[in-house]
Amino acid sequence: MRHLTRKNIRLILLTILGIGCFMALSYTGKPHADFFSIGNLKIPSSTRSGILSGSLSLICFLLVFTDYKKGFKIALGIIFISIGNLLFAMIMRHSIVSLPGIVTHTVSLITLVTLYSFYARLSVSNMTDYITSMGNRRSYVKEVTEHIEGRKSFTLACVELEDFKHINDVYGIQIGDALIKKAAEKLSTILDKKDKMFRITGSTLAILFEPGESPEERLKSVINSETVTVHTEDSSQDENEAQTETSLTMTLGAGIVYSHPPYNFTKTASSVLRNAETALAKTRNLAENRICIFNENMENSDIKQREAEFLVKEALKNKYFYLVYQPQFTTDEKKLRGFETLIRCRKPDCSIVSPVDFIPAAEKSNLIMKIDDFVLQTAMTEFKPVLANAENDLTISINISAKTMSSKDFISRIRRIIEGTGFPAENLELEITEYSFAESMETTISNIKALHEMGIKIALDDFGTGYTSIKQLMTLPINILKIDKSLIDDIESSQNMRDVVDSVIYMGHVMNCEVISEGVEKEAQLDILREHKCDFIQGFIWGKPIDFEEAKNMYNQEEFGE
Ligand code: C2E
Ligand code: MG
Ligand code: MG
Repeated sequence: MRHLTRKNIRLILLTILGIGCFMALSYTGKPHADFFSIGNLKIPSSTRSGILSGSLSLICFLLVFTDYKKGFKIALGIIFISIGNLLFAMIMRHSIVSLPGIVTHTVSLITLVTLYSFYARLSVSNMTDYITSMGNRRSYVKEVTEHIEGRKSFTLACVELEDFKHINDVYGIQIGDALIKKAAEKLSTILDKKDKMFRITGSTLAILFEPGESPEERLKSVINSETVTVHTEDSSQDENEAQTETSLTMTLGAGIVYSHPPYNFTKTASSVLRNAETALAKTRNLAENRICIFNENMENSDIKQREAEFLVKEALKNKYFYLVYQPQFTTDEKKLRGFETLIRCRKPDCSIVSPVDFIPAAEKSNLIMKIDDFVLQTAMTEFKPVLANAENDLTISINISAKTMSSKDFISRIRRIIEGTGFPAENLELEITEYSFAESMETTISNIKALHEMGIKIALDDFGTGYTSIKQLMTLPINILKIDKSLIDDIESSQNMRDVVDSVIYMGHVMNCEVISEGVEKEAQLDILREHKCDFIQGFIWGKPIDFEEAKNMYNQEEFGE
């Protein structure tokens, strides 16, 4: 039943109609009768034959339109049998009365062949990548779908040419094209006769291996980095087209999927490709042996990633996101310093999703930038009227992802939000983590300096969990260090940890920073932090994250005793 697609049903119906027409044409009624009778209706035999021949030709054309390969074969069969039948009748009757029918069928036959060759040519150009002359993505889908539907075992390797975008940007598209051709040539040396290669995207090739010698072993011999020379024609030199030689490093990586029936995770051509791409992603940044074999655990993490991304997209579209605010206090007098803004997601079934379940996934895609924009916009809009009531130094602290912090247009984006909301820049603090420097370090540093010039404070979140160079930190305008909860957790039980936290506080002060301890839950921890002169604390001991109304009341009570 799997193969009974709509197309196949149409083919079957048209074939039945074609055979019906042929049989009606063959049935002549009374021999040599001039009329064919249906009840009282008398149809001249020539009219009837004309109608049936025309219908038969039309059915044959429709068969080719439906499926140019299968339909053409069926139509060819019907037309040949019809011509044979008419020839036979002519010979047997010693009469040329069937000659018009033979002519009609022959014309139909020629038209069918023309139609077929037109479709075949169109299909080849639709299925071919014009740079490498290999199959394209459409051709890949067709081949792999045929394998899956035919329940055949196969192996798919997704091979990527690293830094392809960079090569295109720096050397130009012509060199990029020449390099991908070179990669295809190199890979074709490991292919067996029946294996096929396709170009899926600019830098990604897919190889469909038929069962045979281990594809992994074969790939191992070519998946490496090597310097290659590519030749391109310099068309700017019109008459004497000169050849240009460029030496480049060609680095390949491959993700492999072994697919056997029953297909547990490789259900469609797209899912096999996605799985191969998932495995391929694991090879990026590896120095050598850039081959990875897909397994179902990878799919699970892939599914989780896609589910989280879907949730974030839905949440942004349908306004499932909202903010809560966790208070920060001075350690000695418990005076309110401000609030850290924390995002939450309320699903339609009213369940609340923690940011730890969607922020990491959003950070892997560009969705995190939309989240950051939403948080900035919402927090500043909510708190602007609160700040407008009084002269104060309440600080609203907002977590900013590494991606946002390293984006070139971040400063203009934040300027627009500040102007739009009227929120004073001096009351804004942005929390970055040490991982912010792992993205584009240069832009991140220049953004931090620009934010500092605008009067915005910078806090270094989760301090003590990363590997930032102290020397580099000293050069940046950081205002506040936030000691991570994992360090605070152990200060009452471990003298070593107490010493570490003491040193961090001391170091922060030397760097002209203030220090906040995060995740303070116990009196004993509080006492130690007071003793070590930690400036501020944030933790469940004095305040859990609360909604905006509660935060506003807390502030008003503290400021105005309301
Ligand atoms: P973070 O920025 O380090 O935020 C502090 C986390 O510690 C918050 O968890 C807070 O609820 C929790 N916390 C604070 N005090 C205590 C305590 O005494 N005990 C315990 N057990 N936990 C405490 P939350 O809200 O689940 O946020 C987790 C992380 O998600 C944040 O860590 C931050 O990295 C990220 N995140 C949260 N909101 C946002 C946001 O709006 N934007 C971005 N980019 N990231 C966010
Ligand atoms: Mg934070
Ligand atoms: Mg933190």
